[in-house]
Amino acid sequence: MEFLAKDLSNLRQHNLYRHLNTMNEAQTARTIVNGKKCILLSSNNYLGLTEHPELISAARDAISLWGTGAGGSRLTTGNFRLHEELETAIANFKNTEAAVVFNTGYMANLGTITALTGKEDVIFSDELNHASIIDGCRLSRAKTVVYPHKNIGALEKLLQQASGWRRLLIVTDGVFSMDGDLAPLPGLVELSEKYHALLMVDDAHATGVLGDRGAGSANHFGLEGKIPIQMGTLSKAIGSAGGYVAGSRDLIDYLRNKARSFIFSTALPPSVIAAALAALGVMQKDPQLRQKLHFNARYLRSRLKQMGFTILAEESPVIPVLIGDANKTVQMAQQLLVLGVFAPGIRPPTVPPGTSRVRATVMATHTRDDLDQALAAFGEAGQILGIIR
Ligand SMILES: *Cc1c(COP(=O)(O)O)cnc(C)c1O
Repeated sequence: MEFLAKDLSNLRQHNLYRHLNTMNEAQTARTIVNGKKCILLSSNNYLGLTEHPELISAARDAISLWGTGAGGSRLTTGNFRLHEELETAIANFKNTEAAVVFNTGYMANLGTITALTGKEDVIFSDELNHASIIDGCRLSRAKTVVYPHKNIGALEKLLQQASGWRRLLIVTDGVFSMDGDLAPLPGLVELSEKYHALLMVDDAHATGVLGDRGAGSANHFGLEGKIPIQMGTLSKAIGSAGGYVAGSRDLIDYLRNKARSFIFSTALPPSVIAAALAALGVMQKDPQLRQKLHFNARYLRSRLKQMGFTILAEESPVIPVLIGDANKTVQMAQQLLVLGVFAPGIRPPTVPPGTSRVRATVMATHTRDDLDQALAAFGEAGQILGIIR
């Protein structure tokens, strides 16, 4: 096992070693990370729901009533009434016939892509798609064609060249997780119809965030009913854990029968399901949360730009602040932390060389004061490192 230490030291040498940050408190706007008080600009808890009283009491009540664990997979003894209620609520929220809950978003992508495609099929995948989509494609053994980011023209050429396959699947993030930009869904829908391809959208960062109901990218683009496979997570804006796929009754029935990550894993505990169910209720009752989220995102973005920073995309609460050089990005993130702001630096191989960035995410629960203090830290750190003048 000497390779372990050797490979680890190799990672350290190349500045690619990953370490865990320790959260000492809840995911609130101001929290304690690695023992240090800071403003949290990196959580996917977009609506602040992880500390919402209604979610907490729903989870508590579920534990009292149903216990702490599910005790089996959904197909054996782990299917509680709550799981079914949540799936009905998700289908209503997404405006689809049905929905199925997986244990994580990662497992939803893996299970869905592998259930729908095999060696006889071809998958067209955006080059910036999330790792869970990439892993799903690999595990499916389908031929995977990676198309240039959001490039509808290039994708159409690739679709034209594809012949002799049983099925075509186009798969894309709805909101790209490291860039915060949106998939060109209207164009993708058109191509999927023209070339008879299945279309799958990963709404991990769009669920609860985009659209007038917060129902995700189809809702945002007015394309409800046009995207047959809508995947998302319950672990980001929804404030709980789990993944889902929403679509036709047949699709959901098929996944329940074929998706191995659904079949061969113990169901989520009732408390997690109850929290997600409560979150859907809170989001519907309180659309102001989503408005506040977007207000905060616009505010932080516009002030950062005024200060001279380059923001890579302006369409979601994911705010990528371009630094460029990988080492400078690490220094920027470190300097921000010294100044009391937690926003991670993202470097290759996660993003292409030369596009290293500090990735800031806002939450509905940030106050003006939180954001102003964070902005002051960005200004100071940016000047110290010569990124802005
Ligand atoms: C976070 C994320 C996932 C995985 O969801 P989990 O519930 O965290 O497993 C999948 N796709 C994208 C685009 C994500 O950002």
